[in-house]
Formats: sequence, structure tokens, C-alpha cells
Amino acid sequence: MKIPFDNSYAALPEQFYTRQDPKPVAAPKLIKVNTALAELIGIDPTELETVEATDVFAGNTIPKGASPLAMVYAGHQFGGWSPRLGDGRAILLGETIGTDGIRRDIHLKGSGRTPYSRGGDGRAWLGPVLREYIVSEAMAALGIPTTRALAAVETGEHVLREEGPLPGAVFTRVAQSHVRVGTFQYHYARKDTEATKTLADYIIARHYPEAAKADQPYRALIEAVMDKQARLIARWMQVGFIHGVMNTDNMSIAGETIDFGPCAFMDTYHPGTVFSSIDHAGRYAWGKQPSIAHWNLSQFAQSLLPILHEDPDIAVGIGQETIDGFQEIFSDYYFEGFGEKFGLLPLTEGDPDFIGDSLKLLSDNEVDFTLFFRHLTSLAGFELGNGDDGGEECVQTLRDLFKEPEALDSWLESWKARLSQDDTTLTERYNKMKSVNPVFIPRNHQVEAMIQAAITGDYAPFERLLAVLSNPYSEQPKNTDLELPPKPEEIVHATFCGT
Ligand code: AMP
Ligand code: MG
Repeated sequence: MKIPFDNSYAALPEQFYTRQDPKPVAAPKLIKVNTALAELIGIDPTELETVEATDVFAGNTIPKGASPLAMVYAGHQFGGWSPRLGDGRAILLGETIGTDGIRRDIHLKGSGRTPYSRGGDGRAWLGPVLREYIVSEAMAALGIPTTRALAAVETGEHVLREEGPLPGAVFTRVAQSHVRVGTFQYHYARKDTEATKTLADYIIARHYPEAAKADQPYRALIEAVMDKQARLIARWMQVGFIHGVMNTDNMSIAGETIDFGPCAFMDTYHPGTVFSSIDHAGRYAWGKQPSIAHWNLSQFAQSLLPILHEDPDIAVGIGQETIDGFQEIFSDYYFEGFGEKFGLLPLTEGDPDFIGDSLKLLSDNEVDFTLFFRHLTSLAGFELGNGDDGGEECVQTLRDLFKEPEALDSWLESWKARLSQDDTTLTERYNKMKSVNPVFIPRNHQVEAMIQAAITGDYAPFERLLAVLSNPYSEQPKNTDLELPPKPEEIVHATFCGT
């Protein structure tokens, strides 16, 4: 399989990584390969289903032109500082420049031990590999910046986890880059100002070339990363996504969703929702994500202090002032996005309060987040208040989602009153709401059931979820069962990292 590598990270000085080949596995077997993505990054799709391609995705063959390496980084994990983490079970094979002109990393996960493995075995098991495949591709289809799934293979080996021996797998992901907030923290903590500058210049050239033209390029870099992250977190929240492990080493400088661990989409709306089995304190709950992002970005700004200004006090002033802008930028994205979900077009002064009160109502009534907006969209498609039969049916469907259906009735009155204040046409509003309110999300109980089936060798649920989620904003009459929240006995209370 020919991969048109064009490697830039491997050309950086050696303090950024350790050269490391992936470790071969016993019996690689292809589970899935993403043909469209392969084509985008410059791989001939006819070469994908060959034994040679499977060997590349398993780490058994190193493709020509690759420069395999493990990246080094540090990070705050659940608030605690780790001075050296790094790719403990992952390898950057190299980069290609896609048919769209974008440079992307090709990266194996679960490919064996590296100098950064600490106590770990360097491997991944099938469950998290399939979860990342499904959830990252669903994110992409939802239009949210994310790393992508290129391939998944079984290794034919078992990995030992708390649950016992589990089937091993290797995941190939593609990202705009794998540089993290923690990558900058690593060099800052080592007081390696030259490395910090090299990395910042590299990132500006690769992701934020407009920052190079600013009066203060490194300040512009913080602003650019902050803007990307603020928008990303708002987009996550608008589809009910909870990342689960928003440690600084899991926050991408390119602004993509990265490192899908115990992530999940919430069913019933509550801002305190947490899934991760290791997040006991609810640090990374749905509603905490903006403040955590803000905190992580402060760590990023701090890591750039030595190059922001030669006078440390002035540098701190610049960093602080820049980071203080987060809340306002985030709020704009948050309310703009929720305004679209409710059909408030354009957003007016009283809308943030309306949105806040409405979300509170959903939480009090234990309403399914996705179904509420999906059926509100349908309702917006009818002549509101004209007693149209279809409209009545939508209202009833919405009422059924509420613990106290009367609460919905009075809310609908205030919603209609608000809508009557703008001159957006029915079609405009309906189309906008349809484009931001998904019908399908990867519900956690479906993902878990898919993993359980795959362990027994049945990949049909994986294929079905992948296909349905590739078109999340469209109604799919044959797949309405996948719209539904879990029955009480199907609820998944904790999602395990499963590393
Ligand atoms: P994560 O929380 O999955 O983003 O991982 C945090 C750190 O632990 C990273 O440095 C990973 O490379 C490392 N890590 C996770 N799982 C393993 C494993 N099975 N073997 C070695 N290192 C691991
Ligand atoms: Mg990570």
C-alpha cells in the first residue's frame, strides 16, 4: 500500500519524541477501513483491502516513507500534574497532505510499548477501539471537529484487563495533528524555552498561519486556539456530548475532539451528567466542560509565557488578559448554537435567559435531550398553532417526554410568542433547526451492545450503527429503534476507559 508521506513532525529536534517502531501482532484481521477518508488523505482505495494494508494497520509492516515515533508530552490528569506522559501505546507513522491540501497525521493506537508506556502494556482492546471508531465518525458526520477513524484491526492476541483477557485491536486514526496542551506543558516545565519557541512556530505554520502576521504572534496563537476550543466545547454541549477525560494531555491544539476514552452522549438532560467510571467527583460533567476548557487553556497560555514577552510580568499580563476573554467567546458560541436549536433566529437580547430557563425545564422534567430537540424541530415544520393534525401529534410526542406534560404546554406558549417576534420564514427556521438537531446520536447503550456483539464475532451492529450515524440529521424510517433512549434495564451508568 502506497502512502504519500510528507513528514514534518519527525523533522523537529529529538526532544519532541522518541523514534519507535510499532510492535507486530500475531494474527492481524481487518475489521473496517474508511475508504472515503483514505482517499481524502491520498491513499488509493483499491489498495485498502489487501493483506499488506492490514499489516500496515496492525503495525506489522512499516510502510515506505513512514518515520514512526512516539510523541512526548506532559499533562494535568484530573488536576494532578504528570511531568512526562507521552504516547504510551501509540505511534505516529507520519503525515500526508490530502487532496484538500490539509496536512494530517496517521497514527496507530494499541501498537505496543514505547519509552512512555510507564506500567502499561502498550495495547488496546477491541471495546474502546470500536467505541472510538463509531463515536469519532459520528462526530465527523455531526459536523464537529474531530480526529477520524481510518481503520481497525483485530490482533489475534488477548490483552489482560481488570475484566479478564479481552480481544486485542489496533486503531488507526487521522488527525490534523496530535500536539496537545500537554505537549507545550512538557517543554515549559523543563524550562526549555527554545523547544517552546520551536513548537509554537511549528504550530503556527501548520495550523494558524494568520497568527504569524499578527503584531504578537504568540498571543494570536493563544487567541486562535482559544477560539477553536470555545467553539468545540459549545458544539459538544449542543449534541449532549461528554468527553469524560478533559485532561490537558487530551486537549488538541488544532481544536479537534481527541482521545475518546470513557466518552458518552447523555440521554436524559441534566447538566451534572457524568459517565466515566474514573470521574468520581464529576469534574468533567456535561456542564463543567467550559470551565475545565478555560482552566486547560490557562495552562496553555502559561506554557507560552517565556516567549510571550521577555519581561515576565508583562508576559503574565498578556497571558492573563488573553485568557480572560474565554468566557465571552464561549458564551457567544453557546447561546448562538442553542438559539439555533430552539429556532430563535436571529438571537435577541432576552434569548440567553429564555435558553437557560428552557434547559432548566428540561432538566426538571427529566427530558431526553436529543428527542426533545428532534421533535421540536418537527413541530417547527408545521404551521404553528394552526391546529394542523401533524402538529398535534408532535405536541403529544413532546408531552410524552415530560414528567409533567402541563409544563410543556405553558412553555410552548412562551416559545411560540418568542418565535412570533422575528420574521424568519417557517422554511428557514425548520431547515436551520434540522441542521443542528440530530435524529441519531451514538447512544451509550447502543455502543455497549455493539461492543458485546463484536466480542462474540458479530460485527453487524457495528456496521449498522456506523451506517445510520453517517447521516445523523435525517429521519431514517427503518432505523427508528436507534432513536430511542435506553429502557431502564439497558441504562449504562459508567463507561470504562478500558485502556
Ligand atoms: P489516556 O487517558 O487514554 O489519554 O492516556 C493517558 C496516558 O496513559 C497516555 O500517556 C497514554 O499513552 C497512556 N496509556 C494509556 N493506556 C496505556 C496502555 N495500555 N499502555 C501504555 N500506556 C498507556
Ligand atoms: Mg490521552
